[in-house]
Amino acid sequence: MMLSKEFKMVKEKSANFIIFGGSGDLAHRKLYPSLFRLYKAGYLKDHFAVIGTARRPWSDDYFRETIVASLKEYFTDDEKIMSEFAKHFFYQSHDVNDSAHYIALKNLAAKLNDQFEAENNRVYYMAIAPKFFGVVAEHINSEGLKTKDGYNRLVIEKPFGRDLDSACELNGNIAKAFPEDDIYRIDHYLGKEMIQDIPNIRANNPKFEEALNNKYVSNIQVTLAESLGVEDRGGYYETSGVLRDMIQNHIMQIVGAIASDDPAAKRAKDIHKNKTDLFASLKNLTPEQVDTNFVRGQYDIDESGTEKAYRQEDNVAEDSEIETYTAGKIEFDTERWDGVPFYVRSGKRMPNKASRIDIVFNDKVAELGINANTVVTLLIERTNNQSILINGVNYAESAQDFIKFPEEAEFTTGREAYASLIIDILSGNRVHFTLWDELRSTWKYIDSIRERWDSQKADFPNYMSGTMGPDASEMLLERDGNSWIWD
Ligand code: NAD
Repeated sequence: MMLSKEFKMVKEKSANFIIFGGSGDLAHRKLYPSLFRLYKAGYLKDHFAVIGTARRPWSDDYFRETIVASLKEYFTDDEKIMSEFAKHFFYQSHDVNDSAHYIALKNLAAKLNDQFEAENNRVYYMAIAPKFFGVVAEHINSEGLKTKDGYNRLVIEKPFGRDLDSACELNGNIAKAFPEDDIYRIDHYLGKEMIQDIPNIRANNPKFEEALNNKYVSNIQVTLAESLGVEDRGGYYETSGVLRDMIQNHIMQIVGAIASDDPAAKRAKDIHKNKTDLFASLKNLTPEQVDTNFVRGQYDIDESGTEKAYRQEDNVAEDSEIETYTAGKIEFDTERWDGVPFYVRSGKRMPNKASRIDIVFNDKVAELGINANTVVTLLIERTNNQSILINGVNYAESAQDFIKFPEEAEFTTGREAYASLIIDILSGNRVHFTLWDELRSTWKYIDSIRERWDSQKADFPNYMSGTMGPDASEMLLERDGNSWIWD
């Protein structure tokens, strides 16, 4: 059985990265460690350069020191290797609204392209506040930063808009500067090993795939639970909430991986079409259906009173109506899934961290030789070296053998999500990125929930820290005669 990615076939890549927001948290915590992984694996070697840009006036040397310092938090390699790697990094002080700064950037990029023989390939990475995505993309275009005979790829972080209107506006702005084929919208869940392997698991386990439809599936559950609160991100969270932060993007994309048609499709175009079709078939919710099908919650203190309530967190309003928990029932209007509820939930301050998909089969599935009411669990983060559970037992030790995980392979990068996505960007592979058509459908759906909630006062806080969320979340499933598998 083939895995979705064979990291052993390493081919050195040539590129010049321009990271907008190069002094920030994402760049230091995710991007530089991932680039270092690719460096150690041989994907990046001699022919790459990284320009970090941000407002502060840093020297190249100081920038490199910050990079080595952040690498030391994740790696135990000899500092010499880290310093060699850091020699590929350069810093340019930059204000996103100042045209002259883009000219300086263009000159530096041209110089580094020659110095490192980067073949005129450019990756423009938006590790900057979303409000700047449009203005930076426009300036890259208008100030002539794009090269003629290499590639020019734009990488956009989340959030992609805060509702359908703002996402449309943002998309319009970046579309003026970059063709859709050169835009890589990151949803880092699509970089995770299990999510990438779901099509393989489905395509290589015919009985499992045969059972994945409304004849045999009772319901499907997707859980992304966090035990932490908002920590120091209260300011951001106040503009977002879990519906926008987790459901619109990550949860929807996970549902897309498990529910799209034709998992054996190989071409990016076909894979995206299947997902786009699925999201276009989301059953719209009336305001009354939002009330019955979606639950919102906000955490209170914990039982002992040691954990703060959300409303007590820094940069959070005392009467905040922002939800830190959402559970909902999603339905699709397709022949395959009509009548099957997809229960999804995500929340902060839950008892444990968990990222999982539980597929609950009904009793008819016995006609396929699968035990009646079997539950298959796909663990999105491998836990205790387990990836798939059948009725809570590791699949390899289960008496049922209708599902197997693709064979293990040695991965030189460890398939860390960001490293995996950066390889895709360098290879021009857009399979694991979100397309505009998918986002349009998911935003439209999410907006209908948001609008209803914004029109009604929330009864917050309504769950204690360290619990499974508000009681209404249990009732949501009980009403249909179901219950959460992970509880
Ligand atoms: P951050 O505040 O740590 O960094 C922002 C960067 O932008 C800094 O380098 C800052 O100097 C620069 N900057 C700010 N204003 C500027 C201006 N006017 N001109 C030029 N540079 C300017 O933010 P972050 O957490 O690194 O997030 C960056 C982006 O990544 C955001 O879009 C965020 O939503 C997204 N993101 C972050 C994470 C994460 O874990 N941090 C996760 C997912 C998505």
